[in-house]
Amino acid sequence: MFFTKPSIGAEEIKRVKEVLASGQIAHGPIVRKFEEEFAKKIGVKHAVAVNSGTAALHCALYALGVKAGDEVITTPFTFAATVNAILMQGARPVFVDIDERTFNLDPRKLRGKLNKKTKAILPVDLFGLPYDPEINRIAKRSGVKVVEDAAQAHGAKLGSYYAGTLGDIGTFSFYATKNITTGEGGMIVTNNAKYAESARRFRHHGQRADRRYAYEDLGFNYRMTDMAAALGVEQLKKMSTFTRKRLENAHYLSSKLKGIDGLVTPIEPRGSRHAFHQYTLRVTPEFKLMRDKLMKRLGENGIPTAVFYPEPLHLQKYLKHLGYKKGDFPIAERMSKEVLSLPIHPLLTRKELDLIVKNITRI
Ligand SMILES: *Cc1c(COP(=O)(O)O)cnc(C)c1O
Repeated sequence: MFFTKPSIGAEEIKRVKEVLASGQIAHGPIVRKFEEEFAKKIGVKHAVAVNSGTAALHCALYALGVKAGDEVITTPFTFAATVNAILMQGARPVFVDIDERTFNLDPRKLRGKLNKKTKAILPVDLFGLPYDPEINRIAKRSGVKVVEDAAQAHGAKLGSYYAGTLGDIGTFSFYATKNITTGEGGMIVTNNAKYAESARRFRHHGQRADRRYAYEDLGFNYRMTDMAAALGVEQLKKMSTFTRKRLENAHYLSSKLKGIDGLVTPIEPRGSRHAFHQYTLRVTPEFKLMRDKLMKRLGENGIPTAVFYPEPLHLQKYLKHLGYKKGDFPIAERMSKEVLSLPIHPLLTRKELDLIVKNITRI
C-alpha cells in the first residue's frame, strides 16, 4: 500500500509528449492554457503559473508589497514554506495558535496580534479544509490583506467558493504528492489585476510584459515549464473526480473509526467541502496506544502513515530568532503529538481501506 501516489494516466503522458515535440517547452502556450483553465475552473479572474507552491507564496507576498519591517500573521502548524516565504520578503512571521477541531488558524486568538506593522494574514487550508472565514472579517476591519495558502486544498470549497479564492490572493502547489500535480509547480490566483501583473513580473526576473530586458523591479526565475503545464491541464480535468474519491475514502474511514475511545476523526464544518489532502486522526491519551506506538504497529502490518507535523514551526531551531518558546502555542504543540495521517489518495482500493480499519480496530 502506498501512503500517497500520483494518479497519472495516458492523457497526461500524451500531452507531455506533444509539448516535447512542439519546440516550445517553457513559458509557452500550454502554460498560458493551464492558467486560463485553472482560473476558469475555480472561478477567479487571474491565474499565474510558477514552478512551486513556495514560489507562489513568495510572488503573492511580493505582489501585496510585503517588505522588511512588516508583519504577517500565520499559523505555526503548517509546512515551513508558508513561513519561509514571509522571511524571503524580509518580513516578520507572527504566529497565532490553531483550533484543535480544524487544525487551522483560530480567529478567536487573533485579538491583540494585529498592529500598525501587520500587512497581511496568511491562513492555511490545512489538510484540505478551508480556513475560518471569520479571518476575512477581522482582516477587512483592520485594513490588512489575506493570502490563502491553498497548497493542500485543490477542489475544496467554502459555500460555493473554491479554496484559493477566499482571500485577496490564493496560492497552490502542484508538488508530486498534492491533490493535483505537475511534478513541481504552483499557481497564484486573484481577482486583482495589479496583483496578477506584479506576480507575473516577479516570476520572470522583474521584466515588463511588453518589453524584454526592461527590468521594472527585482525578480526571480519562478517560471513553469510547458511539460509541467501539460500535466496540469490534464490533472485539472480530473480534479473534481479526485476530490470526490478522497471524500468517499474519508467518509468510509470515519464511518468505521468513529466512536473508538481516544480517536478523533476529522470534522467537516457545515458549509465547507474538505478536499482531504490528508485524512488526519487525533490519537489522544485516552487511546490504547500512544500515537508513535500506533504508527509503528500499523507500519509493521503494512499500513503506511505519516505525521504532519511532528514539531510546530515556532519551536524550530532556525526560527529561534523570532523569540518564541515552548508553551506559546499549546494547541499546536499538543496536536503535533496527537496527529496521525492515514492513506487517503484516490487510488486506494476498498480492500486497502478495510485493511487500515481492521488494523486500527483490532488494537
Ligand atoms: C506543499 C506546501 C507548500 C509548498 O509547496 P511546494 O510546491 O512544495 O513549494 C506550501 N504550503 C503548504 C501548506 C504546503 O503543503
